[in-house]
Amino acid sequence: MASQLTAGKEVLSYCTKCKLALNHVIVAMKDEKTIHKVKCKTCSSTHAYKDPSLATTKKKRTTTAGRKKKTQTVAVSIADLWMKKMAETSQKSQPYKISGKFEVGDVLDHVKFGPGIVESIVDNDKIEVMFRHEIKTLIHNKA
Ligand SMILES: [Zn+2]
Repeated sequence: MASQLTAGKEVLSYCTKCKLALNHVIVAMKDEKTIHKVKCKTCSSTHAYKDPSLATTKKKRTTTAGRKKKTQTVAVSIADLWMKKMAETSQKSQPYKISGKFEVGDVLDHVKFGPGIVESIVDNDKIEVMFRHEIKTLIHNKA
């Protein structure tokens, strides 16, 4: 009965895709007794392990009151900020080059990250640029 749980072993888990308790293969363990991730043998999707007994009892008790209670994130995402800044700026976008010299508020066009706006000058040769999905430190002012 004390069969050890390890990655590669089969286990019964609730599949989040098939919405059924099915045979899964353990992909990763959290610790010796806790399964972290499993792969469904039916749809071959990898997801977090879900105790099938817990999943089924929960399903039975589905009431209108217990429906999705998604808490909306209030925090402004980088994308929102970026869009606002891009809409507000009157700067003309210029192609990003290591040899270029940029100033705060400059709009540049990066080959990989797309359009961005210079947030700050980090060093004499580094700038912090806000792109749609992330803020990156780029090199500039290099001869
Ligand atoms: Zn599945």
